Amino acid sequence: MDWRTKLLNPSPKARQDYRSLATPVYRGSTVLFNEQSVVTDDWRQAEHGYSYGLYGTPTTLELAARIAELEGASETFIVPGGQAAIALIYFSYCQAGSHALVPHSAYGPNKAMAEGIMRGLNIEVEAYDPLIGAEIDGLIRENTSLIWCESPGSVTMEVQDVPAIVQAAHARGVAVALDNTYAAGVMFDAFAHGVDISMQALTKYVGGHSDLLLGSVSARDEHAYDKLGPIYQQLGLAVSPDDCSLALRGLQTLAVRLEVLERNALEIANWLADHPQVAQVLHPALPSCPGHAVWTRDFSGSTSVFSFIFEDAISADHVVGFINQLKIFKIGMSWGGVNSLAVVYPDLQRPHHDYGGRIVRLNIGLEKVEDLICDLAQAMAKMS
Ligand SMILES: *Cc1c(COP(=O)(O)O)cnc(C)c1O
Repeated sequence: MDWRTKLLNPSPKARQDYRSLATPVYRGSTVLFNEQSVVTDDWRQAEHGYSYGLYGTPTTLELAARIAELEGASETFIVPGGQAAIALIYFSYCQAGSHALVPHSAYGPNKAMAEGIMRGLNIEVEAYDPLIGAEIDGLIRENTSLIWCESPGSVTMEVQDVPAIVQAAHARGVAVALDNTYAAGVMFDAFAHGVDISMQALTKYVGGHSDLLLGSVSARDEHAYDKLGPIYQQLGLAVSPDDCSLALRGLQTLAVRLEVLERNALEIANWLADHPQVAQVLHPALPSCPGHAVWTRDFSGSTSVFSFIFEDAISADHVVGFINQLKIFKIGMSWGGVNSLAVVYPDLQRPHHDYGGRIVRLNIGLEKVEDLICDLAQAMAKMS
């Protein structure tokens, strides 16, 4: 062979029996087959063998299998982010003429997809009160094909009665999807509570260090897996094996991070609840949070993200001033990483409720909690 050909046809020289504790990063688009008769293009790689890198390399499928095991799912798909997970579920369960239900408290871009792409495809996505419980039955129509839950909701933190919603939905043959990002797939057992599809932004707690974007879509059973798989293939939701490798590393420390995050967040939530300038703390483990009793019944713990509302006497400008005075808390979106974050929602509204720019969401990180409380206290003192 000419040296140029040799460069492209190497035979491995190093020993191939290296056993690392870490999952190797397998990069690759093309998959090689032993003979023409076994060439396939099949998204069911876990069962039928590897066919193409688009459906995941062994690094991706290892992450998928571990998320499935953790959540008690039949199978899991890894997708480029939480929003891609939301899109995969919408496209798998809705067609032109379908009706779907999404809580008012859902993640903003989920509602944007409902009002944008879905509406354009003649799919009607109706918003509902997250605290509706069994009364969701009254909103289910002949053509309802999907009910979304997100518990607790984004920013306003309403804890949903998922089992009651599931019962009403299944009685009418409707599938229920849960955005289980808050619970990291572990603090709320989606499948034990009857959900059909559970998704997470792995960007948050599994990644855990604000340095990657990934999502997961977990199927309860073969039926859900069969609905999701072809759409996953058609949408081409490829992910980077390097990001999957970081997520696999994140899983190793998920338990210790969640333990400290829960403790720190609770301490700060309780401190805020006693503060004279704070009207309400929206932390699921506090009775002041809507749906707190359901949280006590259904969840095994709380995590790092919660909101609070300033007293009416505090103006929206003062709240912005408070955010700008914070030193340790950084101003930023997303959550689930190691740093504490704060952000005000100046225009947030829910039906019959205008928060007047006084609702602030915090993500608590791994800093020493006393330092975080001092930071909040100094910013509050400067505000008034
Ligand atoms: C962040 C988030 C998402 C979207 O995740 P990305 O990975 O940022 O696309 C979806 N749902 C919830 C509840 C989130 O907080």
